[in-house]
Amino acid sequence: MSFVFDELVGQEHIIDILKSAAADSRTGSESQEMTHAWLFTGPPGSGRSSAAVAFAQALICPNQGCGTCNECQSAVTGGHPDVEIIRTEGLSIKVEELRELLTRVAWAPSMGGWRIVVMEDADRLTESAANALLKAIEEPGTRTVWLLCAPTLHDVLPTIRSRCRHLQLRTPSIDAVKDVLINRDKISASMADFAARVSQGHIGRAKYFANNESVRSNRNVIMQLPLQLGSLAAALQAAQTLVDIATEEANRTSESRDEMEIEKLEEAYGKGATGRGMATGAAKAVKELEKEQKSRATRLVRDSIDGALLDLATFYRDVMMVQSDNRDALINTDLQTQIENFAASTSSHSNLSKINAIMQARTDLAHNAAPLVTCEALMCQLARK
Ligand SMILES: [Zn+2]
Repeated sequence: MSFVFDELVGQEHIIDILKSAAADSRTGSESQEMTHAWLFTGPPGSGRSSAAVAFAQALICPNQGCGTCNECQSAVTGGHPDVEIIRTEGLSIKVEELRELLTRVAWAPSMGGWRIVVMEDADRLTESAANALLKAIEEPGTRTVWLLCAPTLHDVLPTIRSRCRHLQLRTPSIDAVKDVLINRDKISASMADFAARVSQGHIGRAKYFANNESVRSNRNVIMQLPLQLGSLAAALQAAQTLVDIATEEANRTSESRDEMEIEKLEEAYGKGATGRGMATGAAKAVKELEKEQKSRATRLVRDSIDGALLDLATFYRDVMMVQSDNRDALINTDLQTQIENFAASTSSHSNLSKINAIMQARTDLAHNAAPLVTCEALMCQLARK
């Protein structure tokens, strides 16, 4: 049994720990004290929240995580009374939201086992929210199990992480990602190989890439940029292209979601029922939601530019691989000819400084530098011989 864990790619080192913790939790023996707080960390795409959800399923499933029974399925869809999965769209999880959550999970588990909270973005807890959570974790005799997820240990307050059992996920290998795409998502072998390489171990992104023609063609445009930096004008144009593409891609993800959220909110305030204008309370709530959406959109654009810059860096990285005669590890196998030519006409020293320039631009953007200006400065540096 324990099929839910089979879905975790490249994480064999933690699966045994989770399996035996789930098995111990149901023997009910007093000697085996259940750990009430777990912290799953790992790079984006390593599947930290999938691991946490799989563990939640194993804790409530009569078959230790079969993946097919009522308990297992309702845990994922949000229909299980004892499992709560907290996903955050906003920039932070505020103390009011956390208090509300604590009231909800204060009751004893309805099925007699555990009440489980999966928090996908524990790194977004505000300090006061984190302190409220800390009190809940420390409460003796609790039947609640907290499964927190964050990119790294440093993203969580020391007081919280010291109370948690920590599990570190790994970036799955390109071959592991490729196998999942072929076997689980029924993607052709050649596309799976390509998608796994360019997404560098990020399963979700690999699948999205393999299934979306527009994402692939946008990437093609980005990856041609290093070959088009012949003049200052061309460099500035390249910066504009990169920002435009990243913005377009980010907007596509957020627009449909924004509309759906506003519709839902208006419905909640009874817009559909009365057919008339909304009450002031509703208008205020919509305004607040729009503000939240705007800050999310800004973040999405920045994330998207960051992704494009990382792609760009893989071009120079591949050039350096060719220069050191290491062609097996190429990421951009579709551009091998261009990469070979570029390698023949440049020094590895200049390629390394270009990669450094890209990483510096990413750092600047993370510190809220203006996207277009940052990219323009970067492209001018990349244009240098
Ligand atoms: Zn099950």
